[in-house]
Amino acid sequence: MKTKYPIVIAIDGTSASGKSTNAKLVAKALGYVYVDTGAMYRTLAWYCLQKSVDIHDAKAVAAACRKWKTSFECVEVKSHLRAVHLLVDGYFPDNEIRTAEVSGATSLIAAVPKVRDWMKKKQRECIQFGDLVMEGRDIGTNVFPETDYKFYLDAKLEERTARRAADGVNENLAARDQRDSQRASAPLMIALGAKVINNSHLTSEQTSGLLLKEIRARLPAQ
Ligand code: C5P
Repeated sequence: MKTKYPIVIAIDGTSASGKSTNAKLVAKALGYVYVDTGAMYRTLAWYCLQKSVDIHDAKAVAAACRKWKTSFECVEVKSHLRAVHLLVDGYFPDNEIRTAEVSGATSLIAAVPKVRDWMKKKQRECIQFGDLVMEGRDIGTNVFPETDYKFYLDAKLEERTARRAADGVNENLAARDQRDSQRASAPLMIALGAKVINNSHLTSEQTSGLLLKEIRARLPAQ
């Protein structure tokens, strides 16, 4: 019997472009597991700040990433939505990683090649949990370049800034996007073959509706 290889839906895009909201809606609708790779990078940045590791020192950050004690858990976060969490020392810093300070630190540590290698390896291990909806910056280009399901979300900067402010976070998204797009290692870019959706004028229901329509058209017949 042919074993089915898990399906990976890759959703990349700029900061606050609706990746998390829509990835969760898609995961819930399809019964797939949701993976927020940004949370993994944020967790490392938070860990470095906690341990007073100099986030501007690539060697020190790489050493911290080599040594930190992590584990995965796949939990039901809402009804019909399972998500993978990366724990450090058995703890998932859910709220702590959402501050503007951690966001700024994250795009610095995310540029360290050794960190990206570690994250890619761990993110690929997530298929142990089944079919995935994985969101990030380099999922379609670098983590799962072989997937047939690649999407790139974007929206006007003013719209994205307003969305973050509505969540109570004021940060310079343009600076973070620039750092993410200009780093040498796995920069943010549109993957070859990705479907680009600009959702400046779309609700999340409309955006996730477009994603689901496109995915269902490509899924093999059951
Ligand atoms: O998506 P989120 O805003 O939580 O990502 C935080 C930061 O993590 C990004 O600005 C980026 O620097 C980094 N990141 C990355 N690659 C990913 C996901 C996130 O470099 N796949």
